[in-house]
Amino acid sequence: MTRRGAGGNHREREEGALVYPAYSRRSRGLSVGINLFPDRKVCPFDCPYCEVFPFKTEIRFSPESMKRALRQILVREAAAVRDICFSGNGEPTLSPWFPEALEAAARIRDELVPQADLVAITSGTGLLDQGIFSLLREAAGSPPALKLWLKLDAGTEGWYRKINRSKIPHRAILGKIREFAGEVPVIIQTMVCKVGGLPPPAEEAEAWETAVLGLALDNAGPEPRGLTGVQIYGKARPAPRDPLAEALDEPFLVSRAASLKKKLERSGRNIPVDIFP
Ligand code: SF4
Repeated sequence: MTRRGAGGNHREREEGALVYPAYSRRSRGLSVGINLFPDRKVCPFDCPYCEVFPFKTEIRFSPESMKRALRQILVREAAAVRDICFSGNGEPTLSPWFPEALEAAARIRDELVPQADLVAITSGTGLLDQGIFSLLREAAGSPPALKLWLKLDAGTEGWYRKINRSKIPHRAILGKIREFAGEVPVIIQTMVCKVGGLPPPAEEAEAWETAVLGLALDNAGPEPRGLTGVQIYGKARPAPRDPLAEALDEPFLVSRAASLKKKLERSGRNIPVDIFP
C-alpha cells in the first residue's frame, strides 16, 4: 500500500500518512486512500505478496486529521477523483476508528465529490464480527452505498495457508463471504501469483472457480446483491517477503479469467471478470 510522509511539517506528514491520493489501476483513475493504521500494520493475514514494509513512525490515526486532509485533497482534486478507498497498512474494518471514519468519509464525499465511489478493500476477516458484519451490510445496502472489494485468493485450505497465511480457517471466512454476498453486492478480488516458486495448482484453480461461481449463483435474483464483479490481479510491486511471492505471466492470468468467465456465462451470469497483471 502507498504511504507518504517524508517532507513537510508534522501536521502535513501526519495528514499525508492518513490520506493519500494515488493512481489506481483497479479504480481506473485517482483514488484517495484512507489509512487507519499509519503507525503499524494490523492484519490477521500475512500474505507473502503484501506490500507493507516494516516501518516506524510516531504518527497516530486521528479522525480530525483524517477529515481535514480528506477535505483538502478532495477540494484540490475534485473532478479527477474516482473513489475514496479504505485500504492502507492492514485490515481497515478492524480499526476501532473505522465506524467513525466511514461515516465522516461518506459525509465529506457527498458534500465535495458526490460522483465518487466509497470503497473498502477488505480481507473479509471483519465479517466474522457480527457488529462489523452489520455495519458493512448497512453501509453497502443503502446510502452511502459502500462498495466492498473482498479478497478471495484461494479456493482450497491448502493454497489459502500459503497465500494468506492466517490462523483463521478458510471455510470460516468463505462462509461469511457467502452470507454477506447473500444480502449486498460484492466485488471479489483475487491475487494470482507464485508462492515458493509454484503457481496455484489446477485443483486450487478449480476450487476457486467453484467458490466464485457459488457466490454468483446463490444470488441470481433481481435485487442489487451478490457477486457484481471479479478482479484478478497480479503481483506488480515489490514486497518485503520477496522472492517468496513472484509474478506469473499475463497469459496465466488471462486463462484463469477466461475459464471463470466461460463458467459464469454457461450459468447465465454475465459478470465482468477484469485482469490487472
Ligand atoms: S490482507 Fe494480505 S496484502 Fe492485505 S494488508 Fe493483510 S497481509 Fe497485506
